[in-house]
Amino acid sequence: MSRVYNFSAGPSMLPLPVLEKCAAQMLNYEGSGMSVMEMSHRSPVYDQIIKDAMASLRRIMNIPENYKILFLQGGASQVFASVPLNLMPAGGKADYIVSGQFSGKAYKEGQKYGAVREVASSKSDNFTYVPKVEKDQFDPEASFVHICYNNTIYGTKFDYIPDTGDVPLVADMSSCILSEPIDVSKFGLIYAGAQKNVAPAGLTIVIVREDLLGNARPETPTMLDYAVQAANDSMYNTPPTYPIYVAGLVFKWIEETVGGLEKMKEYNEKKCALLYDYLDGQDFYIAPVKKENRSMMNVTFKTGDADLDAKFVKEAKAAGFVNLKGHRSVGGMRASIYNAMPIEGVEKLVDFMEQFRKENA
Ligand SMILES: *Cc1c(COP(=O)(O)O)cnc(C)c1O
Repeated sequence: MSRVYNFSAGPSMLPLPVLEKCAAQMLNYEGSGMSVMEMSHRSPVYDQIIKDAMASLRRIMNIPENYKILFLQGGASQVFASVPLNLMPAGGKADYIVSGQFSGKAYKEGQKYGAVREVASSKSDNFTYVPKVEKDQFDPEASFVHICYNNTIYGTKFDYIPDTGDVPLVADMSSCILSEPIDVSKFGLIYAGAQKNVAPAGLTIVIVREDLLGNARPETPTMLDYAVQAANDSMYNTPPTYPIYVAGLVFKWIEETVGGLEKMKEYNEKKCALLYDYLDGQDFYIAPVKKENRSMMNVTFKTGDADLDAKFVKEAKAAGFVNLKGHRSVGGMRASIYNAMPIEGVEKLVDFMEQFRKENA
């Protein structure tokens, strides 16, 4: 079988040149006589791999010097717990904007650790938009404000960065990191599971402002203490060595082949516009998300008829467009078009959608 257009929400497509590089280096990485998978994380050759990857990420995202980059395990879901443990003292407070399932899970996890508050939620409208929250709605005594910047399941994205005053803003960017430039200095902490836009599953990226480190609660598991991880250059124990290597190749691809995050954004805007323009120009498919909150990475749509949706997903798969089924909690369809999805994949999907419309309208 030839390669398909994979619209999976995650784990998802990786850039073809990166996969080819992995294949070429699989058995013998740069004359080391072994695969990266087989290397000691304490070896000089691996040390170069992780250091280069971190430096490259810092350049691409323009991460200021007073931020630490951590390469961890556990996924975004573990950060739901480690953020309150690191940033909020016992009996402390935190504010959450709930704009989807993952921010809801983060909020629920936060409840275990302090007096956390749901400042706003779009749940009653099936998360089809992102709530607008003004500065005076946040508690100035909160230890942090938590948001999910791109809501993978619903296909929505923040169209603004909340002004939280002096309260650190924490953002889950699992499904949008590296899709466009972002002003890191507006955030206290950014985190992302790598399996959407960066690498194979197993790596979690945390970017944290230095002054927020060192106040973890005493009962915080050592592995979840960001200060410990930072002091050990993310090598307190064995890091996810292979995903970090692939992440490094993806960073290099963005830097050298794509030409940086401005260029990445242009490409992503072009790709999602193909889909949204098509959806706006017909009335067979419904695009449920409020226009100003449309995600560049996850495009949701449906026909309004569950059987017809199922038929669409089935026929799309047969035509080489896989993983278009919407999340089980939403139904319909979702095309995840992360950085690695080539524009041809989206063009062909739109052609397929139009053909399906003609046959089924
Ligand atoms: C996928 C995803 C998660 C969950 O990530 P894990 O690494 O599986 O824990 C959390 N938040 C967002 C926004 C996601 O897209």
